[in-house]
Amino acid sequence: MIEIKGLCKTFDKGRGRALEALNLHIPQGSLLGLIGPDGSGKSTLIKVLNTTLRATCGEISIDGRDITQSIREIRRKIGYVPEQFNLYPDLTVDETLRFCGKMYDVAYDLAKDRCSDLYRQLEPYLRKPVGKLSGGTRQKLSLCCALLHQPSILLLDEPTRGLDYPSRLELWGLLQHQQTQGVTIIVATADMNEAVFCNSIVLFNSGRAIATGSPEAMITNFEGELYTVSCRTPFVLADFLKSIPEVRSAHVFGNRVHFVLMHGDIAFIKSFLAFQEDFKGLVVLPQKVSMEDYYLQMMEHA
Ligand code: ADP
Ligand code: MG
Repeated sequence: MIEIKGLCKTFDKGRGRALEALNLHIPQGSLLGLIGPDGSGKSTLIKVLNTTLRATCGEISIDGRDITQSIREIRRKIGYVPEQFNLYPDLTVDETLRFCGKMYDVAYDLAKDRCSDLYRQLEPYLRKPVGKLSGGTRQKLSLCCALLHQPSILLLDEPTRGLDYPSRLELWGLLQHQQTQGVTIIVATADMNEAVFCNSIVLFNSGRAIATGSPEAMITNFEGELYTVSCRTPFVLADFLKSIPEVRSAHVFGNRVHFVLMHGDIAFIKSFLAFQEDFKGLVVLPQKVSMEDYYLQMMEHA
């Protein structure tokens, strides 16, 4: 339904590359996660999709129509929750919903009906100024405003940033509910753990898509065996492990080191460590692969 071909975007007369040679096919009803660290190009892609930024090269079509040829029509199809909260803090929740309804020419009662689930959750706060809402309720309001005109595509830029864990879960639940209604949802997040809520994801690094697919398939595609070991000098240990030919990579996670063993025997690595004055007594355990581990592996590939 959304087709992206050879998309790139540069800023500052070509000096800053925010997106490079991106190709994506996003079927209707997807819940797609754009996952990557700050500065990897997630917001740029969302802004090109919602037509506020123009691509430097490449094409995007939605339902077979080039987005640059039918901007007004495309904007009607899209609901957008930006990275920065963009509602007026002095308006009450009720005033905000009326205001957003007017912008899209949707009568208030109809808007309430369309978003009845979300509206019911916002009802206790109708007289409250938006600036006084908790982060989670504020994001529900943003979502409700983005849905009033019944968009078929919903773009959300890091909607869970700064929210506590229960509010994050609740928001992902609301997005999954929208997906069941047939809405195509594209969500940017820097939190790799949120990949599990999506049915497909794109991993971004420096403006490039370094992997695409379902989160489950990515974990299955991880190459090698992953182990973890706790240590008081994790960086020294990681460097030591990397010097062993059978160890393909070693990364520090707090006071732990995750390392990948390729075609090697873990018993050999354990005994090798036991012979080192600095590392004897360390416990090496198998480690379940997380999206962060996969991301690091794909970055090395890239
Ligand atoms: P993310 O949303 O993943 O944090 P962005 O899409 O905001 O990443 O940014 C990608 C890259 O493009 C960054 O290097 C950023 O500095 C640059 N960039 C984004 N917007 C602009 C802009 N308006 N002018 C110049 N550079 C920009
Ligand atoms: Mg961003």
